[in-house]
Amino acid sequence: MAELSANLETLRGIGSRRAQSFRRMGLATPGDLLTWFPRRYEDRRNVKAIADLTDGESVCVRGFAAAPPTVTRVRDGLDLLQVPVADESGVLRVTFFNQLWMKNALSPGTEYVLYGKVERNLFGCSMSNPVAERADRQSETGRIWPVYALSAGVSQRMLCHGVREALRACAATLPEYLPDEIRRDYGLCPVDYAYRNIHFPESDEALAAARRRLAFEELFLLTVGLRGFRTRRESATADIFRDVDMSPFYDALPFTLTGAQRRCIAEALSDMGSGVPMNRLCQGDVGSGKTMVAAACAYYCIRNNKQAVLMAPTELLARQHYEGLSALLSPLGVRVALLTGSVSAKDKRGIRQRAAAQELDFLIGTHALISGGVEFGSLGLVVTDEQHRFGVAQRGALAAKGHSPHVLVMSATPIPRTLAMTLYGDLDVSFLDELPPGRRKILTYAVSGDYRPRVYAFLEKQMSEGRQIYIVCPMVQEGGDDRKAVTEYASELRRVFPARRILSVHGRMRPKDKEAVMSAFASGDGDMLISTTVIEVGIDVPNASVMVVENAERFGLSQLHQLRGRVGRGRFQSYCILISDSRGDETRQRLRVMVTTSDGFRVAEEDLRIRGPGDFFGERQHGLPPLKIANLCTDGQLLREAQSAAEAVSPERYPETARRAAEMVSQGGTA
Ligand code: ADP
Ligand code: MG
Repeated sequence: MAELSANLETLRGIGSRRAQSFRRMGLATPGDLLTWFPRRYEDRRNVKAIADLTDGESVCVRGFAAAPPTVTRVRDGLDLLQVPVADESGVLRVTFFNQLWMKNALSPGTEYVLYGKVERNLFGCSMSNPVAERADRQSETGRIWPVYALSAGVSQRMLCHGVREALRACAATLPEYLPDEIRRDYGLCPVDYAYRNIHFPESDEALAAARRRLAFEELFLLTVGLRGFRTRRESATADIFRDVDMSPFYDALPFTLTGAQRRCIAEALSDMGSGVPMNRLCQGDVGSGKTMVAAACAYYCIRNNKQAVLMAPTELLARQHYEGLSALLSPLGVRVALLTGSVSAKDKRGIRQRAAAQELDFLIGTHALISGGVEFGSLGLVVTDEQHRFGVAQRGALAAKGHSPHVLVMSATPIPRTLAMTLYGDLDVSFLDELPPGRRKILTYAVSGDYRPRVYAFLEKQMSEGRQIYIVCPMVQEGGDDRKAVTEYASELRRVFPARRILSVHGRMRPKDKEAVMSAFASGDGDMLISTTVIEVGIDVPNASVMVVENAERFGLSQLHQLRGRVGRGRFQSYCILISDSRGDETRQRLRVMVTTSDGFRVAEEDLRIRGPGDFFGERQHGLPPLKIANLCTDGQLLREAQSAAEAVSPERYPETARRAAEMVSQGGTA
């Protein structure tokens, strides 16, 4: 009996070459194959008479070869095998490409079942490359059949075979994470039945039962895992922060806080006074002023004689936070420092010493805060910015540096309210749903490539007024090399704007070089910045007034909204120009949403509506583990059931379940 986590080579019929192909698509063990759930299914149960076939349908036909097959060599490397198949009602022309072995398989006088897509025209019916089996030995027809997502070098046939073998070898050893009582109470099938039927369903009912069980399991484990964080927090005690006079902080601000900022700050301050560690998500659209909420919390914490730390996803963002916040807080007597990867070893040592001795009040930095061996004399508050970049586990790692410190996470990923509550089951949520006054609406235009000369003229005008411009062109291919796209575009623009300083960044650059270019741009040493999506996060250049997005149809709406949020941060009227030559209805609808809406939450809702939840959550930008089968948008009812089931179990009684849940939750995050 093979192990779930063994090498694929332990499965029958999988040699080292095939295993290598599977590994390239991330499938390394029988367990991986079993959780590679079908993308969809084909119903191969329907048998139709040839006379009744309609064009375009996928269906089975039962019949005999009406004549011996003929073979034609069309050209080198392309052989056609043709055979007429007849039933009582008519004849079907069947063609196989490059499958000469079928010649012997289709012997006259034997009854076959063929499944495939029908082409019907004036000259009759035909099928290309159908699945063909002897009628007395059906295994892939006459049933519901899985269709898997594939990648290069792996065919449907190989995957089906691999999954079958994995089931044969391992189905009996699958761990059952759902306690019996829960399976009974919620009517859920056993684990081996679920895996067999999600791949090779015996019936519609069996498939529905399998899916229900597996999605329930996933949501149940997610809930248990997140709750693990929550209980640890609730059973922990934190120092009760006493009320402090916040007026020096408020008086130092160059503006009055918005109502939403005041509300979020009040919610956070009340958490920190409660004696239970705060674990709060502050969610606000780009530009809503989240930094000031963090600053107020830090000030409150520091006046309570505790240290605060703020972690940002990039060096540049950390530096911007540091510059802004130390200018604000240092005059109030707060000792602020910056810790990032590029701080010299000597300075790092100094910072570590001062942090440990509590000679520092507020430490701002990047990941280096977690990895750099920093200890705090008395850590009271942990803030992470742009939280979707960090997983639950990373948040935890930073919090572990204190004795149950308060945690505030800030996110600009606009998730509709109801979903956020569910998604961040371990967090309380504050919504920063108001922009500071006096913001001018960013004017958004969707145009086709024909407009490029006019766009260029407009850019030139903006630059001559001293403004800066972002240009974003998409990755040619997901995870691919964007250097070519970026450099070619940059040289074209250098021809068009010979007098302008044109900067570019791409994914192949070292992070340090990337940061250097971006901070040059931020300090005004460039008129245009060309990139793929590296500027998506948090960069603040108030002088930038135009965001141009090429091939805008390739971006998700929420992503476009994030990009647009890079401009309109200063006092200048700002513009977002979306260029797309795609004529599709969906593209037009989506870009229309961008043109008419500036509210990030509405954009997110529209995104969900148009693209569907699969794609929305597929972007994995929520710091949650990727779900393989459950769908947070459409499985609302199941989620509620899984949550109430999770309430009922105590982790001590089911250590394996608790372990698996914790493991699953720790996979979240993309940073
Ligand atoms: P976010 O992080 O939510 O995208 P920031 O905190 O960077 O937004 O704030 C965006 C800009 O708005 C900053 O330049 C900030 O100084 C300014 N700002 C924040 N709060 C206010 C306010 N109440 N009134 C005016 N400007 C504000
Ligand atoms: Mg921010």
